[in-house]
Amino acid sequence: MSTNRSSLKDELITVTGAGGFIGGHLVADLRRQGYKRIRAVDIKSFEDWYQCFDDVENIVADLNLKENCYRVTEGASQIYNLAANMGGMGFIENNKALCMLSVLINTQMLHAAHACGVAKFFYSSSACVYNADKQRDVNNPGLREEDAYPAMAEDGYGWEKLFSERMCRHFREDYGLYTRVARFHNVYGPSGTWDGGREKAPAAICRKVIEAKISGKHEINIWGSGQQTRSFMYIDDCLKGIHLIIDSDILEPINLGSSEMVSINELVDIVEDIAGIKLKRTYDLSAPKGVNGRNSDNTLIKQRLNWEPSITLRAGLEKTYAWIYEQVLARRGGSCMDARNKGNRISVLDSVTAH
Ligand code: NAD
Repeated sequence: MSTNRSSLKDELITVTGAGGFIGGHLVADLRRQGYKRIRAVDIKSFEDWYQCFDDVENIVADLNLKENCYRVTEGASQIYNLAANMGGMGFIENNKALCMLSVLINTQMLHAAHACGVAKFFYSSSACVYNADKQRDVNNPGLREEDAYPAMAEDGYGWEKLFSERMCRHFREDYGLYTRVARFHNVYGPSGTWDGGREKAPAAICRKVIEAKISGKHEINIWGSGQQTRSFMYIDDCLKGIHLIIDSDILEPINLGSSEMVSINELVDIVEDIAGIKLKRTYDLSAPKGVNGRNSDNTLIKQRLNWEPSITLRAGLEKTYAWIYEQVLARRGGSCMDARNKGNRISVLDSVTAH
């Protein structure tokens, strides 16, 4: 058993989207677990990666291109395909074509994984695949896996995820490729997007509260009525879920999310409490706000894995708030390095073109 485990740790693992939030944490976690051969791939230039490690093969490549997908897949035994164009509601509602183009990445990565004989392929889907009709009420009872059909996904980003999920399924059924798919519900934590337009609600609220605290202007503008509900999963729970799901016999897409549902107003309450201030709230009803209510039903994951995400929103937000606070201070101090972990840059594919 221990021999098997240690030999597994010598196998090459490719993480795509590794310069991003979840991909960066996944690489860090695989290193902590003792994996010795990790290939980290992203389209962004290294300066923009949230985490980058000396002992990892770091590659900048555009995975919209088939030849790049083959090059980063060659020799790998496992693929974690996290690369996608994504962001919070403000981004996905205004960049539908760009979000749908991520279908190229998953298509070419599946092709390459099949051709190169990859042992395991993980795909990160999203709660945005769920039927909009099931999310009209703020008192969402929790979305069950079957609620994705009949399909009425989030336009653009959600449809791409739903289509790519099915492609994973058909590569498994038709070609025997081992694929596992998790539907992430809002993931948050340090070392992720916190400004610039792609940030999601927890990071955006932390940043706004911090800016109000530092500036002394005790006001906050909230997108929507503040009554819309969501659940938020801390990054450590997400990582644990990814590992459990890729090694499981769960063939169909499964929810990976917290079931601690809060309204956006309640999210602001928690962040204000962490900051030790109270802000005057204004609401922008014309801003993108997404569905009214969304929560993760965790019946299936509890049944199949005897586990579900359990880190409380308060505990996760304390860490996230502290990290964003450092970023805001670093920026105000004129530092362009943020608090990012910068490492060795080993390889850059020549044929890369960013679109
Ligand atoms: P992220 O934006 O921080 O990371 C995605 C990374 O993919 C980025 O660094 C981006 O540069 C890279 N990428 C985009 N196009 C690429 C291309 N053509 N070639 C190579 N790299 C490319 O996002 P994240 O939050 O880390 O999300 C990771 C995955 O999880 C994505 O597939 C996302 O759709 C999914 N997901 C995330 C959440 C969440 O709340 N964060 C929720 C649901 C699903």
